[in-house]
Amino acid sequence: MDAFVYTGLPAHVVFGSGTVEKIGEELEALGINKALVLSTPPQAKQAQAIVDRLGDKAAGLFSNATMHTPTHITEQALAEFNRLGADGVVSIGGGSTIGLGKAIALRNDTPQLVLPTTYAGSEMTAIIGQTEDGLKTTQTTLKVLPETVIYDVDFTMTLPPVMSVTSGMNAIAHAVEAMYSAKANPVLSLMAEEAVAAMMRALPKITADASDRDARSDALYGAWLCAVCLGSGGVALHHKLCHVLGGTFNLPHAETHTIVLSHALGYNAPAVPETMARLARATGSDDPAGALYDVAKAGGAPMALKDIGMPEDGIEKAVEIAFKNPYFNPRPLEEAGIRAIIQAAWAGDRPS
Ligand code: NAD
Repeated sequence: MDAFVYTGLPAHVVFGSGTVEKIGEELEALGINKALVLSTPPQAKQAQAIVDRLGDKAAGLFSNATMHTPTHITEQALAEFNRLGADGVVSIGGGSTIGLGKAIALRNDTPQLVLPTTYAGSEMTAIIGQTEDGLKTTQTTLKVLPETVIYDVDFTMTLPPVMSVTSGMNAIAHAVEAMYSAKANPVLSLMAEEAVAAMMRALPKITADASDRDARSDALYGAWLCAVCLGSGGVALHHKLCHVLGGTFNLPHAETHTIVLSHALGYNAPAVPETMARLARATGSDDPAGALYDVAKAGGAPMALKDIGMPEDGIEKAVEIAFKNPYFNPRPLEEAGIRAIIQAAWAGDRPS
């Protein structure tokens, strides 16, 4: 066996259907007596139900969480936290709401309990991205790692099917790259394979019937494991390309990951036979990159960067930026190969 380093992050996870019922005892275990409940505006009703459930253990509701964690929203939430005498936060939602809870914890070290409702995975990472004056900066600190995560399948039932697929593919990308990044190790690879298998089992079923509770359960279980991969693992070409493309052309996050993943994997495939063997088992296909593409397409996800806002003359610009700031990738970066995968992702071709 090759040498490796493994770093696990502390996590307390409660998983299942109806697990929100444990929220009172979980808050007590964290020593939280007055929780500020956080959500985005569309999820305010769901969050209010938690406030009602908590009774006098809730300090109140702040339902203005916003994508990319703008600092002026964090200041408003923090003022509310202090005004209401809160001593902890409960974040109900996806990465945007969890990001707000993390931003509060970054400033006052308050404990966080999270109820994730998407598959994005922020709840298992010590990473926080914040936006100030249009500029997004990211930092990693254990201060922002949520103490307790209640994965309640019931909270994911309303996630629209196409969003479930793009959110799920975004999660799978974390697991795929964790298997071949510079931080790869056998424990993460075990989780990553299981994560991809669970998610790939679930997504076609959710596409066929969004109310399939068993499939939703598999997807959330897969999302948790993918999130652990993101929190403890590393990334490579796929994430670098998505960062370049998303940042340069202002493309939507999960959709960009969904489109690029199969192409980046196709490029790296010859250099990572062990990962490809795991992915073949996980996808049930001897062409895992093609299988990922097919599941995303069948789920109605956009499959071409040109359809989500990238101009054709951006292809050369993206190739150029992808070569700036060297980073780890299992297969050396070759200009013609990188151009070919960006071109294919732009056009929406099936990976060859
Ligand atoms: P999101 O949290 O922005 O949610 C998108 C929309 O879907 C929101 O309006 C939300 O209210 C709604 N929604 C969420 N769950 C729903 C449900 N079950 N039913 C109906 N509607 C629902 O989206 P996201 O993809 O979860 O998060 C994206 C953000 O998270 C980005 O800013 C990304 O950078 C960040 N992120 C951070 C990390 C990290 O480790 N720091 C990891 C992953 C993502």
